[in-house]
Amino acid sequence: MFSFPVRSPRTLFFQRALLLLLAVTSIVSVASGQQDHSNPWAPTELGPLPPIASLTDGVWLKGDLHLHSRHSHDSSNNSVAKIINFSKSVGMDYICITDHDNHVLGDVAHNTWADPEFKSDSLLLLYGAEWTTTRGHGNVFSARPYDHQRLYDVRDQRDIVIEAVKKELGIHLSANHPSGKDHFGFSYDMVDSIEVWNSAIWPKNANAIMIWDDMLSSGRKLTGRGGSDSHHGTPNSPELASKNTPQRQANYVGTPTTWVYAKERTLQAVVDALTNGRVAVSANPYAPRVEFYADLDGDGKMDMMMGDNAKPTGKPITFRIQLTGKTVPGGDYTVKVIKNGDPYKTLKAEGTIPTAEFTDTPVQIGRTYYRVEVTGPPTAYPDVPGSMALSGNMIGLSNPIYFNFDPNF
Ligand SMILES: [Zn+2]
Ligand SMILES: [Zn+2]
Repeated sequence: MFSFPVRSPRTLFFQRALLLLLAVTSIVSVASGQQDHSNPWAPTELGPLPPIASLTDGVWLKGDLHLHSRHSHDSSNNSVAKIINFSKSVGMDYICITDHDNHVLGDVAHNTWADPEFKSDSLLLLYGAEWTTTRGHGNVFSARPYDHQRLYDVRDQRDIVIEAVKKELGIHLSANHPSGKDHFGFSYDMVDSIEVWNSAIWPKNANAIMIWDDMLSSGRKLTGRGGSDSHHGTPNSPELASKNTPQRQANYVGTPTTWVYAKERTLQAVVDALTNGRVAVSANPYAPRVEFYADLDGDGKMDMMMGDNAKPTGKPITFRIQLTGKTVPGGDYTVKVIKNGDPYKTLKAEGTIPTAEFTDTPVQIGRTYYRVEVTGPPTAYPDVPGSMALSGNMIGLSNPIYFNFDPNF
């Protein structure tokens, strides 16, 4: 039969002491376990970063990265020649005609690129298309013809499969109009840029800007770019007008305009500048270009521009915003500085070449980025007269200047 063990007070004392010891030991081991944990992704000192490219050995080129010609079924009166001639007339340096690939079942090569009008002696014509898929739209930009059919065929596969094809093709892939209808429903890890300013209707881009800041804040060095997404040209005769013809007066080539600081005037240099983020977006080709610089070493000369990534020195860094081009004389230009996704400063850009400066000290461990948006009196674009009313007082935006962004992210 079961007998209740008889324990002396001495035994009880030792038993309780042992239990207490075990409890203390386990608390200590839990606590020290936490101390032993180290997050492999925590910010740390980065190794050397690639040197910053020259700020003077290059050329500013302007263009439009989202255009539909007659090879898109939802376009009207917009032949390739019409787009090219208009682009030249407003001083564009490059364009990318991005027709919907699903309208030709992926065979862009035998449609847009094979169009006898797809040629120019002065305008740089990138090869590309709008990758038009169930999960949203993206634009491809390439300096040379590539096998677009492969990207079309893989469109409904898993992102990891799509990304492998994208890498094999050696193309620049860009997320289009990332929020709202036909939002970009793919991983941003497989794109090189994001359309943060789609069409002349600037106010509808607020969510695109929010997504961009989320991607930047989480360590993705992702270029922001523009694209008019214009579909409709001027009819050759009045009876050819479509119900969408009025769009031509409000949204066409250059609304907005994407500026790239390219090493030279070549297709590859345009794509490289896009990938590297030496990019600004303006309301139209005549609106001023937003240039954003920093003086990293404090010698009074600017040595970084937007898209560049450096290690902070621990000392205050001076930043400069400059509006180059056709400003409205005496115009009141406001610069909003965004730091790590949050509003940081509001400045006035003043002078004949409107300029503003600020100083800040980025942290030495961990990432920091700064970007700017400029508002003010719109510069007229008589070639697309209705566009100013849609873009309002939005003049332009810069790409970020980056600190401590890991190139191996
Ligand atoms: Zn689209
Ligand atoms: Zn489009």
